[in-house]
Amino acid sequence: MGRRARVLYRQAVRFALPGLLTLIVSVLGTAAAELPPRRVPFTFERAAPKDGLAAAGCPPGTLPDGNACVRLPGDDDGEGPGAPELPNAHRERGGRWAPYAQIPRRPERPLGYDLYTYPIPPGLPGGHHVVSGYDLDRPDAEQRRGRTLRAVGHGGVDLPQARGTPVKLVALEHQKGDGDILYTGPLFGTTVVTRHTLREAGQLRDYVVLYGHLDAVAPGLASGTAIKDGALVGFVGDTGSPELVHLHLETRRVREGVDIAARVARSGGAEVLADDATVVCDPRNVLPLR
Ligand SMILES: [Zn+2]
Repeated sequence: MGRRARVLYRQAVRFALPGLLTLIVSVLGTAAAELPPRRVPFTFERAAPKDGLAAAGCPPGTLPDGNACVRLPGDDDGEGPGAPELPNAHRERGGRWAPYAQIPRRPERPLGYDLYTYPIPPGLPGGHHVVSGYDLDRPDAEQRRGRTLRAVGHGGVDLPQARGTPVKLVALEHQKGDGDILYTGPLFGTTVVTRHTLREAGQLRDYVVLYGHLDAVAPGLASGTAIKDGALVGFVGDTGSPELVHLHLETRRVREGVDIAARVARSGGAEVLADDATVVCDPRNVLPLR
């Protein structure tokens, strides 16, 4: 390359590159803003918390593959037909890989969200319920993120409805007996957390259900009391998610041997999200079919 060509090349790099980067960023931003409706970015929600695995790289039993961490072939979960807990990871906005545990949808559970029972009537045209689904089992690039989102990924389903719509308890698939109220108070905005014992894969397992962003908790709900299928839990609102009126519904499996009620009583509602207490779960595994 001649001297003049080199100068031209350097000038081109110096002036064109920042413009090109700006263009790429703005195109990506536009693309993010124009994602399909089920990925509407809601603010003030956190994804599954970190589980204390390595800060960088992929969690044990997985290998990096492009943007994702994939399971090693032949790495059987050893739990038969139950709901296996699997690792996944996503790249946070700061660039750090965040590994976490999660329970993906079991293959025999239908994919379509509209086939399941929810605590509120459908709020979308055409009788649809879910505007933003569970994505923590997906590769990093397919998890929910947006310019205003602090957290990457979505560990529940978002159900838009009118403010004040009554939210009614859904008894879970294979539930034994009534549920009970584990916690009411701030978590995902104003939140009610219920506990349910399920017979699964030949054993009893506890799950918790989070009803988030409520306008208000149902009068008289008290921790430790039983709650029956269809009972009033609270009212749809936008606490912790201003202007985006919807119900955030999240299901988590309580880890074996954990007395979640005792932990919440001792240390507060955030214990429900602690990695050594519960594992986030695709709600389709436990919501009853319609
Ligand atoms: Zn949500």
